[in-house]
Amino acid sequence: MMNSKQVIEKIKEENISFVDFWFVDIFGELHCMGMPSYSLSEDDFNDGLEKLDASSILGFKSVNKSDMILKPDPSTFRILPPDYDPSRKNARIFCDLYEGNRAEETRFNRDSRGITAKAKGKLKEFGLTHSMWGPEIEFFVFDAINIYPSPYGATHSYGGSGYSIESKESPWAKGNASTAIDLKEGYYPSQPKDTLGGLRKDICDDLYRYFGIQVEAEHHEVATSGQSEINFKYGEMTEIADAVVTIKNVVKVKAKKRNKVATFMSKPIFGDNASAMHTHQSIWNNDTNRMYDPNDSVAQLSQEGRYYIGGLLDHASALCAITNPTTNSYKRLVPNFEAPVNVCWGLGNRSAAIRVPMYLKNREKSKRIEYRVPDPTANIYLLEAALLLAGLDGIKNKKDPGDHVEENVYKLSAEKKRELNIGSLPTSLKGALDAFQSDMKFLEDVFTKDFLDAYTELKYKEYHAFAQTPTAWEVSMYTDA
Ligand code: GLU
Ligand code: MG
Ligand code: MG
Repeated sequence: MMNSKQVIEKIKEENISFVDFWFVDIFGELHCMGMPSYSLSEDDFNDGLEKLDASSILGFKSVNKSDMILKPDPSTFRILPPDYDPSRKNARIFCDLYEGNRAEETRFNRDSRGITAKAKGKLKEFGLTHSMWGPEIEFFVFDAINIYPSPYGATHSYGGSGYSIESKESPWAKGNASTAIDLKEGYYPSQPKDTLGGLRKDICDDLYRYFGIQVEAEHHEVATSGQSEINFKYGEMTEIADAVVTIKNVVKVKAKKRNKVATFMSKPIFGDNASAMHTHQSIWNNDTNRMYDPNDSVAQLSQEGRYYIGGLLDHASALCAITNPTTNSYKRLVPNFEAPVNVCWGLGNRSAAIRVPMYLKNREKSKRIEYRVPDPTANIYLLEAALLLAGLDGIKNKKDPGDHVEENVYKLSAEKKRELNIGSLPTSLKGALDAFQSDMKFLEDVFTKDFLDAYTELKYKEYHAFAQTPTAWEVSMYTDA
């Protein structure tokens, strides 16, 4: 990890042409400002770069209060892989966002990285030093197709422009010409069926060589048409959130280089598995994993670990506004595609919202819980902060989650679910936002009311744009052509 002085030295030593300053908006989308390296000085790290018109970034600020300061975090300096710009050698640095004048600046309350940092501050109250996070990244890679601008316009900055109503269905509904895998038959195929192994390995190479991200496994996932997964080594909150943003960006850049499109939208194909971002987590006091208890005969899970689960389950519906933040997210949360629909926990149970993995190499070190609800459209900084706060709320209020469930919960009758006190996750973004509005108190301290209100308002707007849009499915369903 470098400090600002070392970064300046490195830039000279490595002949870096430009530095890209990276930051994300409230949806977790990556933005970038480039600067020739000869213009960067050590002072810029302390004083910040006053280069951002925040009113032009959706969800950030209004026109009359638009100045924003980018403060580069030198510890995130990395040289970018050649695919980012074959003509020159560039680097990237993540930034923290500040506002105000130089004498009196404060962290911008809509800076996602700042929210993660603030959430970390809560750990102390619980006698904890840090938490560990391990998200699993799933995504689809498709043959490049023409994506026409949506006639309804984009409502926010997810980066997608939508596709034309002219096309009868999702442009990917027919699958990927370059794969020969049937619906739900994509789990761990070998070549030549899996045509994406080379791309994934290229991605993994760049992640390790340029960004120091240690990949543990890559494979084709269950869905047809290039569903892929990359797992990387777990770590501390901010480092992991930065890594997720980096991985998503590298995946998109490398896919594009091969004339393909990578998407992190959760459910691009009807009738097939969707993409998730299962998030493993544990809480620590120095070297002690506070989720571990060797004497617990059920899951070697401590009472605190159980309460943490209780907190997550208790807030699960509200959390969906952050963990599953798009209209498309709810096309994933349906039975029979390995995605959770019920609010309960289990051990080996992949139909439950939370799983406590049992077969672990180094038991104390790796005891953790896996929250299976999120998908990769979530803003990872907000997601980690919100999950941590829900878990800590469970500890604070001693929310026991009850017995673990090992039955296939997709198949349980409504009556049995009532008997076992198993609730359901929201079935739409609106359902999630409604739940969020009535259960966001546990987040307010860290997220601020201003942030939560702005986020909710934009998300309702997104939902309404979706709800009012006639879809290709409706046109074919309700029109006699
Ligand atoms: N893609 C599945 C989901 O939507 C998860 C598959 C897995 O267990 O890795 O949740
Ligand atoms: Mg998977
Ligand atoms: Mg998993």
